[in-house]
Amino acid sequence: MKSSRIPGFYNLSVEQRRDLLKKELDFSAEELSSLYIKEPLSTETADKMIENVIGTFQLPFGLGLNFLINGKDYVIPMVIEEASVVASASHIAKIVRSAGGFHTEATERVMIGQIQVVGCSDFHAAKQAILNEKEVLINAANAAYPSIVSRGGGAEDLDVRILNEDSDSSYGKMLVVHMYINTCDAMGANIINTMVESVAPIVEEITNGKVYLRILSNYADKCLARARCVIPPELLSTGDYSGEEVRDGVIHAYEFAASDPYRAVTHNKGIMNGIDPVVIATGNDWRAVEAGSHAYAARHGSYGSMTTWSKDQAGNLVGEIELPMSIGTVGGATRVHPLAELSLSLMSIESAKELAQVIVAVGLAQNLGALKALATDGIQKGHMALHSRSVAIAAGASGEMIDIIAEKLIEEKEIRVGKAKELVEEYTK
Ligand code: NDP
Repeated sequence: MKSSRIPGFYNLSVEQRRDLLKKELDFSAEELSSLYIKEPLSTETADKMIENVIGTFQLPFGLGLNFLINGKDYVIPMVIEEASVVASASHIAKIVRSAGGFHTEATERVMIGQIQVVGCSDFHAAKQAILNEKEVLINAANAAYPSIVSRGGGAEDLDVRILNEDSDSSYGKMLVVHMYINTCDAMGANIINTMVESVAPIVEEITNGKVYLRILSNYADKCLARARCVIPPELLSTGDYSGEEVRDGVIHAYEFAASDPYRAVTHNKGIMNGIDPVVIATGNDWRAVEAGSHAYAARHGSYGSMTTWSKDQAGNLVGEIELPMSIGTVGGATRVHPLAELSLSLMSIESAKELAQVIVAVGLAQNLGALKALATDGIQKGHMALHSRSVAIAAGASGEMIDIIAEKLIEEKEIRVGKAKELVEEYTK
C-alpha cells in the first residue's frame, strides 16, 4: 500500500476516486470490479444468506483516509448512512499521522463458549469433577472441530463458576463451564457452538446435572484489541482555540463520560460510529461487536467510557481504547459479500488480529473527532454542513440540484427539510 494520505480526495467525483485507487494505490481493475456491479450482492446470494428475502439493501461505501497504524498505511472501508463520520475519522487520522500514527496491539484470539449445568446435587463436587476431567473435555471439544486445531487453534483451557449458590430458587442455582477456544482468523461462533454442544453430554455425565444452554459468549474479554495515540497540543489547535484548550476540553469531555452513564452512552455511540462501519464493510457481525463493547464499558461495575484521554508529562494528549473484538477475516459473510472481500483487500489485511487493531484505531479516531468538535465549535457546525445534502435529497432534490440546494441551506443557515422543500419548489418552477 502506498500512502493513505490522499489530499483532495473529498473534492473528486466518484469515478475519479475509483481511478485514483487504481493509478495511485495499485489496485487492479479486477480487484475493484465489484464496485462497478449494479447489484454487488446478488439477490440469488442474498436469498441463500437469510430467510424470506425480497431484495437487497444498499448503504454508502466510503474510505477513511490518512490512517497510519503501527507504521503501516491503511485506507479504511467504511459503510455507513450518517454524514460527517468518514470526514471526521480522516481528519483525526491526519492529525495522529503527524504525531507518528496509532500504536495498536491485540491479545490472542481466544473466545469463550459457555455450558450451563443445573440440578447438580452438590455443585462444588460437580465443579471439581469438571476440573479433574479438563483434559478429557478439551480433547473432546477439539475432536469435534479438528480443522481449527490443525490451523493452530482450538479449545485451550476451561474454567468453572457456580452462580447463585445461595439462591432459594432451584432455577437460579447453576454451574457455568467456560471453554476458552482460539478461533484463529474466524469470529468463531459456529466453531465454538459446535464444540460446546459436542461436549455437553460428557459434562452431564461428569456432573450428574442437566445441561441447558451451550453457546458462545459475546462478552469476548479474552479477545481484546487496543489502540493508543499521543498528540502534541500544537497539532490540535483549531480556529480560535489553542491546542492546549482543545486538549483540556477533550480530557474534560472524557471525564464527563467516565462519570455519567447518560453521557457515556452518547460518547460510546460516537466510538461505534467509527467501529461499526468497518465491521459492516468487512462482512462481520456488528451486533456481536456492539454487545461485547458496551458490556466491556461496564466491566468496572458501572457503564463508562470505552476510551481514556489524559495528558502526559510533556503536555501531550494521550488517547487509549481497549475493546473485545470478535471479528474475523474468514467465515460468516466475510467471503460471501463481494464488497466485504474488497474491503479486506483495500486494507491488505493479513489476519483477524490485524483487522481487530485497525477497527479499534478507527474507534479511537472517531471519538477524538467528536470530542474535539464538542469541546470547541460544537458538533452541529461541521455535521449540518455535511448533512445538508441528505436534507436536500429528503426534500426531493436530485442530480445537480442536490449541491445547489445544499449550499443554499448552508448559506441561509437553515438546514431543515421544510426549508429545503421551499427551495426545491422555487428551483423547479
Ligand atoms: P464459519 O462457520 O463460517 O467458520 C469459519 C470457518 O472458516 C472455520 O470453521 C474454518 O473451517 C474456516 N477457516 C479458513 N481459514 C481459517 C483461519 N485462518 N482461521 C479460522 N478459520 C478458518 O464462521 P464463524 O464460526 O466464524 O461464525 C461466524 C458467524 O456466526 C457470523 O456470521 C455470526 O453472525 C454467526 N453467529 C453469531 C452468533 C453470536 O454472535 N452470538 C451466534 C451464532 C452465529 P475449516 O477449518 O473447516 O476450513
